[in-house]
Amino acid sequence: MTGNDASSDAERKMQFLFALRSKGVTDTSVLTAMERIDRAPFIRGYFADRAYEDMPLPIACGQTISQPSVVGLMTQALRLSPRDKVLEVGTGSGYQAAILSQLARRVYTVDRHKRLVREAGAIFRQLDLTNITAVTADGSFGLPDQAPFDRILVTAAAEDPPGPLLAQLKIGGIMVVPVGQSDTVQSLIRVTRGEGGLDYEELRPVRFVPLVEGLGRDG
Ligand code: SAH
Repeated sequence: MTGNDASSDAERKMQFLFALRSKGVTDTSVLTAMERIDRAPFIRGYFADRAYEDMPLPIACGQTISQPSVVGLMTQALRLSPRDKVLEVGTGSGYQAAILSQLARRVYTVDRHKRLVREAGAIFRQLDLTNITAVTADGSFGLPDQAPFDRILVTAAAEDPPGPLLAQLKIGGIMVVPVGQSDTVQSLIRVTRGEGGLDYEELRPVRFVPLVEGLGRDG
């Protein structure tokens, strides 16, 4: 790498963090995690050089890696604490799980595509992110063996927050989930389980691929 490459890398990273802040990612622990975890290894091939741009990009199995500012805002909305056990539904590239791994004690991430789980798992090992477990499963049923969770993040859009996931949330727990029909307007919803029941807040409009039932054809 030449000196020039190094300085333009640093510059791209600064612009990346600036874009995150300007879109409302203000939590310093989230920004630090996003500074530490390079997005490039999670994007294979053709689009890898666009890793620092604030846009979603295609990954294998017809899925997408989310826009970094959306990853930041969803992570922020979870209000993580370092002792938390977190479930992510929708591993995709593994990038979101890697960010969560910096801010929580333990991360379980599930995807219906075996190939995505295998490829993300390989990157977690490469980066020595030992507190992430990636599992091939239909995440709309959660992960009963590991439940309950302090935090649940769903990164695919459901028509309603899935019942089994709500049931796997601890009291005091928070779930963040995009809700709505795919390809129409979806809202990011934060569900908090209090002693007296569930509290719902609508955070912002988002656009995610749909939560699909069953395993992918490759899994
Ligand atoms: N969080 C990812 C992006 C997720 S894209 C990242 O950081 O890159 C949405 C993912 O949800 C896709 O990979 C898709 O396969 C997965 N998905 C959709 N329905 C699912 C289901 N029922 N169970 C588990 N994963 C599902």
